[in-house]
Amino acid sequence: MFLKGKTAIVTGSTSGIGLAYARALAAEGAAVMINGFGDAAEIEKERAALEGISGARALYSPADMTDGDAIAAMVQQCHDELGGPDIVINNAGIQHVAAIEDFPVEKWNAIIAINLSSAFHIMHHAVPHMKAKRWGRIISTASAHSFVASPNKSAYVAAKHGLAGLTKTVALEVATHGITVNAISPGYVWTPLVEKQIPDTMKTRGLTREQVINDVLLDAQPTKQFVTVEQVAALAVFLCRDEAAGITGANLPVDGGWTAQ
Ligand code: NAD
Repeated sequence: MFLKGKTAIVTGSTSGIGLAYARALAAEGAAVMINGFGDAAEIEKERAALEGISGARALYSPADMTDGDAIAAMVQQCHDELGGPDIVINNAGIQHVAAIEDFPVEKWNAIIAINLSSAFHIMHHAVPHMKAKRWGRIISTASAHSFVASPNKSAYVAAKHGLAGLTKTVALEVATHGITVNAISPGYVWTPLVEKQIPDTMKTRGLTREQVINDVLLDAQPTKQFVTVEQVAALAVFLCRDEAAGITGANLPVDGGWTAQ
C-alpha cells in the first residue's frame, strides 16, 4: 500500500476507466475523491466500497467538468477535507460521432470543455498544492486519438491532441518540483463510452453492430482484443511510484499496437 497518506482526485470516475483508476489507487491505500454523473445510490455504493478497499476516506464530488468554478471548488474541497491533492487523474470524457458539416456546435463545445479544458482548470488549481509538498503526479487519459485521427470524431481528436500538448507543457513547467505529468493513451477499451458510439457509427457508416465492432473498432487494434480498464489503471498506479519519477511529459499508448502501424 505505497499510496497510504496520499490523496487522489479522479475525474469521470463513476464509470469505466475512471472507476478502475479509483479502485486501483484505493487498493494502494490512497484516499480518493471520485467525480462524475450517475445514479446517486450506485455512486454512494462505490464511494463506500473505496473506503473499504483503501482503509482511507473516499469522497464524491458532483462537479461538472464544463464548469471552471465547480472544478476549482472540487480541488479546494479535496484539499480541505482530504489534504493534497497529491495525485490528479484527468479522465472525464465524452464522445460524439458526426461528419464535420453535421457536427453540432454544442457537442463541439462540450467535448472541448470536458475532454480538454477541465484538465487545464484542475492543473491550474492543483499544481500549487503539489509544489508546496514537492511531490505530485498528474495523469491524463488521452487516447490513441491523441496520436492519430479517425473520420467523424473532429472534436474528440482535437481535444485529445490538445491534451497531449498540455501534458508536455505542464511537465516542463513543474519538472524541478517533484511533479510528473503524463498522458496514458488507450486504444479501444470496452466501456460505456465505446458501447454508446456503436449506434452512431452504424448509422453514419451504414454497418451492422458486428461490423462496427470487428471492422471499425478492432480493425485498428492489431491484438484484436479490447484493452481492459484494469490494464489502463495498472499503468497509472505505476506512474505514481517513485520508480516512475523519471517519466514525465510522456504520452504512453496502451492500444494493442494500434499506433505502431
Ligand atoms: P465512460 O463513459 O465509462 O466514463 C466517462 C466518465 O466521465 C463517467 O464517469 C461520466 O459520468 C463522466 N463525465 C462525463 N461528462 C462529465 C462532466 N461534464 N463532468 C464530470 N464528469 C463527466 O467512458 P470511459 O471509456 O471510461 O472514458 C474515460 C476516459 O477515457 C475518457 O476521457 C475517454 O475519452 C478516454 N478513452 C476511452 C477509451 C475507450 O475505448 N473507452 C479509449 C481512449 C480514451
